[in-house]
Amino acid sequence: MSVLDLRPGINQALPEIAEQVTPVPLERPFLIGWSEVLATELGLKAEPERYLSQLNGEGPFPVPATAQVYSGHQFGGYTPRLGDGRGCHIGELGGMELFLKGSGPTPFSRGGDGRAVIRSALREFLASEALHHLGINSSRALAVLGSQTPVYREQVERGAITVRVSRSHLRFGHFEYLKHSDRVALRDRLFEYSLHRDFSHCQGDAPFSAWFMAVVERTATTIADWQAAGFVHGVLNSDNMSILGETFDYGPFAFLNRCDPSYVPNHSDEQGRYAFDQQPGIGWWNLQRLALAFAEHFDDALIQQALSHYETTLVNRYLERMNGRLGLEASNDTQARLDLISGLIQMMTRQQSDFHQGFRQFAHLDPEQEDNPLAQLLSQDPDWQSWWRQYRQQLNFGNLSEWQQQRRYQNPNVVLRTHLAQQAIEAAEKGDMALVKHLHQALCHPYDDHPDFPHFSEAPPSWAQHLPLSCSS
Ligand code: AMP
Ligand code: MG
Ligand code: MG
Repeated sequence: MSVLDLRPGINQALPEIAEQVTPVPLERPFLIGWSEVLATELGLKAEPERYLSQLNGEGPFPVPATAQVYSGHQFGGYTPRLGDGRGCHIGELGGMELFLKGSGPTPFSRGGDGRAVIRSALREFLASEALHHLGINSSRALAVLGSQTPVYREQVERGAITVRVSRSHLRFGHFEYLKHSDRVALRDRLFEYSLHRDFSHCQGDAPFSAWFMAVVERTATTIADWQAAGFVHGVLNSDNMSILGETFDYGPFAFLNRCDPSYVPNHSDEQGRYAFDQQPGIGWWNLQRLALAFAEHFDDALIQQALSHYETTLVNRYLERMNGRLGLEASNDTQARLDLISGLIQMMTRQQSDFHQGFRQFAHLDPEQEDNPLAQLLSQDPDWQSWWRQYRQQLNFGNLSEWQQQRRYQNPNVVLRTHLAQQAIEAAEKGDMALVKHLHQALCHPYDDHPDFPHFSEAPPSWAQHLPLSCSS
């Protein structure tokens, strides 16, 4: 029997930030999804079934599993004590932490059952894979397990576990907790741990400000990538913000369907705090919460420097991504390019174009032709003529088919639309894993055509445009 050769990792290095827990295995676990790519990266060679009992929380583990304590700002208000309420750290493999999400109650469950259901576990698995293969920084997922364990939500569902894999699970909320509960010495040890382990390039004369600027940069980069990809996280509480800038803690996330900057996937987010177009501002708000967790290290100059670094990084990264999508020359005037990008988004919003299908048209565009697939979508718009004229002026393409090929690899054909995830979930709940497998495969090759599954790249039927999502997962 092969077992994962786990190392204790943070469970041993910093026991003070965690409580030991005993995972409660799921009944009759089975594999729903498995990431071959990640398994290979982790050096796993055996059949996934060989690891099933360990990934179901049965062990063996090098030291007892733990649940970590943290706090965080949730929808703007501070919750002084959160923590891993339904998952545990089982150790490290190849320098990556393995976390079982859905493995039963912990001291941080706050009355919850410590479980995840197939629906939420599979959404997290597929989304982690999808973002990673779009080149967006994300926590990873090795596997998703289903079971016969009943879990009570609005109705009875089945328990599941996502095996989340990340270089580090440290959140803004870890530091907030230690600061606001007067454990500043421990906060500083955790900072040192993070610095040595993942930010060793910041260990110079001013390690704290270098570390903070690096966190700022990673956060801004990931959020810019979301804005360019049409991804909405859904619950950007500071406890869901990764120090590594990873897309982290997937809940009611969504990829846009119709282009709608104000889209809010989480139906309980009534104020739209975490709407698509609010994400850049919220990222900075959360970084300010992290700064407050280190208040004694900050003065006005450092905060100003951080803000300016955040804005510059975010805008430059967004421009870089969007230049690629539209085929604009990076050397051209920045403001002209920003105007073109926002002009396009405005037209797509007014015309209710599908975000991903709209951008994919750039892979089929011949900018010499007035009658082209983009014009077919947008030529009704009052701004179309002037936009098209300015767009053509900004272009400088030599070989058309090469130019189109480049657009193809910047504008995905398949993203994890909510209704696609939903169809895979419904099949998996009935025991049919084929659709999960096909969708997973397509998400690992998002720029390719998938002729056997044409609906993977289609906009949803109108009833499925805005499927409601909630946190009750
Ligand atoms: P989230 O909305 O997923 O970021 O979760 C917020 C907090 O609630 C975290 O501390 C979670 O660990 C905890 N939590 C979420 N679902 C459950 C559950 N079913 N049982 C226990 N704790 C949970
Ligand atoms: Mg969370
Ligand atoms: Mg969560």
